[in-house]
Amino acid sequence: MFDVTAVRAQFPILDRTIHGRPLVYFDNAASSQKPAAVIDAMAGMMRHAYANVHRGLHTLANEATEGFEQAREDVRRFINAPSVDQIVFTRGATSAINIVAAGLSHSIRPGDEIVLSVMEHHSNIVPWHFLRERHGAVLKWVELLPDGSLDMEGLERALGPRTRMLALTHMSNVLGTVPDIRRAIALARLHGAEVLIDGCQSVVHLAPDMKDMDPDYYVFSGHKLYGPTGIGVLYGRADRLAGLAPFEGGGEMIETVGREAVTYNIPPHRFEAGTPPIIEAVGLGAAIRWLEGVDRQAAAAHKAALLERATAGVRALPGAAIHGETRDKGPVLSFSLKGVHPHDIAQVLDRQGVAIRAGHHCAQPLMAWLGVSATARASFGLYNTLEEADVFIEALSKAQRMLA
Ligand SMILES: *Cc1c(COP(=O)(O)O)cnc(C)c1O
Repeated sequence: MFDVTAVRAQFPILDRTIHGRPLVYFDNAASSQKPAAVIDAMAGMMRHAYANVHRGLHTLANEATEGFEQAREDVRRFINAPSVDQIVFTRGATSAINIVAAGLSHSIRPGDEIVLSVMEHHSNIVPWHFLRERHGAVLKWVELLPDGSLDMEGLERALGPRTRMLALTHMSNVLGTVPDIRRAIALARLHGAEVLIDGCQSVVHLAPDMKDMDPDYYVFSGHKLYGPTGIGVLYGRADRLAGLAPFEGGGEMIETVGREAVTYNIPPHRFEAGTPPIIEAVGLGAAIRWLEGVDRQAAAAHKAALLERATAGVRALPGAAIHGETRDKGPVLSFSLKGVHPHDIAQVLDRQGVAIRAGHHCAQPLMAWLGVSATARASFGLYNTLEEADVFIEALSKAQRMLA
């Protein structure tokens, strides 16, 4: 059995009240809360073992470097990547995708195609628009089926000899949809295209395995994985990283710098210009080690039960529409209530201590596909409880009566 009470006890913020009510935090798809293990690891480094990393010849520099590189190994183990040299620390998922898009830009010819799904986050759209605007790349969009699943036949049609990149989410942050990622990768490979997987949500809720999935690139942020902001990961296949031009230039990423020429360090350092987010990396490593101590299969079952309970509750409300109804979707519940603006729902829920998000969720092409300007979204973390789902539904029902 998953002991949610024991898990909750490790998250100090969950003791908070909001407007005099116990906090119900259902905004985990935007960012999750942090366990004491993460807070303590970061504070501990600042108190006891902090200095800049690499090239240091003093004890603190060596300890900080050890902590930083240990975090890289923690990430490698967590996603079962072949080597730590394939783990690039970035500012976040957004930065990781920009590194890949910018790194490819010099080899993009007008008419080269980038294939995207309409459910991508803006992070996995805008860097590709840069290639369209600046290098003449063509964006090709894959639609969804009515239940919110990826149209795999549409994907097959979109791929072709000019496809350079398939950029695809492994779990929609709005619909919860989990596309058949292995098949998508296999289809792209038929055309010699590279594949970038946006793992921001899947890294939290699934158990992504790089050796098994074998994408060209997989990216995620630390802050949705119970880790800190300011840190993310770009995983890349060794041959892809070796062939990718560096995006940012500066310290750490070079081998030699002269007046006439510069040579670059090997990956991952080639993509880590400047002082990296050292404390944040250590925090991410702590989050991963903390998660490894949790029965993640039981946690997944717990989150699925939460989703089911909340979905049933929303569905029972008059005029409710649920966006994303695939089986085995992630614990993300987007919905609309007829005649009520999502922003008003979120504000009224906040008065009752319930934090949900309302808006376009950085997915405007998806909003257009849904035919709405915004949705309300409740998203669940492993510290949420079934009782909280009931509080949410009760608050929602009250909000609907108030706002109607
Ligand atoms: C949050 C999120 C992103 C962007 O992550 P940042 O941490 O803002 O860089 C991209 N894709 C998905 C699916 C997300 O949920």
